[in-house]
Amino acid sequence: MFRSRRRLHEDKADFGGPSTWPDPQVSYKDSDPNVQEGTRQFALLMDKVADLLGLPEPVITSGLRPPDRQVKAMLGLWKGHGSDYVIDLYSNKCKSCSPGAGDTARELIDLWDSNRRMIIGGVPEEVVEQSMEILEKNPLSAHQSGNALDYGTKTNPGNSIKQALDYIQSKGYANFELIDETQGPGPHWHVTVFGVTQAGQEFLRTPNQGLGDLKEAIRWMLRGL
Ligand SMILES: [Zn+2]
Repeated sequence: MFRSRRRLHEDKADFGGPSTWPDPQVSYKDSDPNVQEGTRQFALLMDKVADLLGLPEPVITSGLRPPDRQVKAMLGLWKGHGSDYVIDLYSNKCKSCSPGAGDTARELIDLWDSNRRMIIGGVPEEVVEQSMEILEKNPLSAHQSGNALDYGTKTNPGNSIKQALDYIQSKGYANFELIDETQGPGPHWHVTVFGVTQAGQEFLRTPNQGLGDLKEAIRWMLRGL
């Protein structure tokens, strides 16, 4: 069974994966792979499980989003779509955002509105600084601290991400919260990672065995039939 593990416009990150499967580098696209150690291990689990089950290699589409970049992104949305759009996005549409995200968005927009004149010509440094302080006090999501990963459904074909996540869940390889953002704008699976378990660590250290794993893949695909 041959399948290419390289695609265009993507990068590879070395997350320190042991050489227990053919390509332990992790793929990511338009995102910052500098996530926390537990999150890196989770990304390795996804990569190894995909190899085990014969699924396409998972591509991370969002990793670390520190306050400075979050502010820039939100300012862009605010300028492009207006205040109501941004508040609605963080209050209602974003299921993986923190419970207080809508209030935080409102606080930021109040700050920007009161500096609107200055912002039109480019955002002054002190407004950016104040915005970052607001976000540092009230993180919008687990991405801000590098404890979350997104897997976009456009970048990752079919049901492959859900299958790999279900497998990790069923084996108890990690503790994580899965949030279905597949119906929203930029459809994706959001994963907040709490940690990889002993069983998960053990799995990472155990070689995938090519043909032997075919049985495991078939068993998994046929489960419940
Ligand atoms: Zn996310």
